Amino acid sequence: MAKYIISASEAQSMAKSRGLTVPQLLPSLVKSAQALARPPISNFHVGAVGLSSDGRIFFGANVEFPGLPLHHSIHAEQFLITNLAAHGGGPRLLYMAVSAAPCGHCRQFLQEVRGVSDTQIVITDEPQENPDYRPISSILPNPFGPYDLLDQEMPLILEKHDNQLCLKDQPFLTQNGNLTNLSNGYAELAIKNEENLKNKALEAARESHAPYSGCPSGVALMDCEGKVYKGSYMESAAYNPSMMPVQAAVVAYMAAGGGGYERIVAAVLVEKEGVSVRQEATARLMLNHVSPKCELRVVHCV
Ligand SMILES: [Zn+2]
Repeated sequence: MAKYIISASEAQSMAKSRGLTVPQLLPSLVKSAQALARPPISNFHVGAVGLSSDGRIFFGANVEFPGLPLHHSIHAEQFLITNLAAHGGGPRLLYMAVSAAPCGHCRQFLQEVRGVSDTQIVITDEPQENPDYRPISSILPNPFGPYDLLDQEMPLILEKHDNQLCLKDQPFLTQNGNLTNLSNGYAELAIKNEENLKNKALEAARESHAPYSGCPSGVALMDCEGKVYKGSYMESAAYNPSMMPVQAAVVAYMAAGGGGYERIVAAVLVEKEGVSVRQEATARLMLNHVSPKCELRVVHCV
């Protein structure tokens, strides 16, 4: 199975066996991260590898979705941060190695991680023995970031979020008002996993980072074997680089070894009703394209 996380002890022993420090090891892992990319539109494979303050190494890669507007794409650095967040990594990102210079969108998205200006970055296509690390502040001077809009003590991405949300008591129906879409062949599995799907989507919404809009959300996906993957919405102070919850759940699906998207057969979105930022329409668009038989149900929370 493709690797998306390396444990702290394994990272130490890999570095030791090559006579390197762990930060020096990162550039040599970038090619493996690039191999995880799914970029059918650009065919440009981007890999990102990060060393968390907890000693683990996390991987990220770019993901593109043909047939959808480009803003549905997941950038490698966003994948990396989502992978960290989903696995309790952090709270700091100490070092990162990327195959190509981070785009402006990613430089901005990274601002949601506390202290990221001091994160050391190396941009490399080839492994180097003595990587030339420099602080992220050197590639994004004068950033616009969370502190332009929030108090210093508000939790940022990779810090604990516990949005106080509970599900509204409402019928759990499909878009057509049915209990489930019987035609996709997975109705029984979806009904069996109904509570788990709802609870995981609620957990994801509680953990989501939505301090700018106050509109938290989370998605849980179920594959054809009944395994469930959750993704939390993560906002950016600059809005557009925000990570939508379906994309975050797709990252969780990939990082857990998920295969083709067509194996995703059911999804639940938890969000507030009638608020200024809602995910339902875009989540439906995304899932309809990547896995047409996947059934999305929406549960509102308060
Ligand atoms: Zn990018």
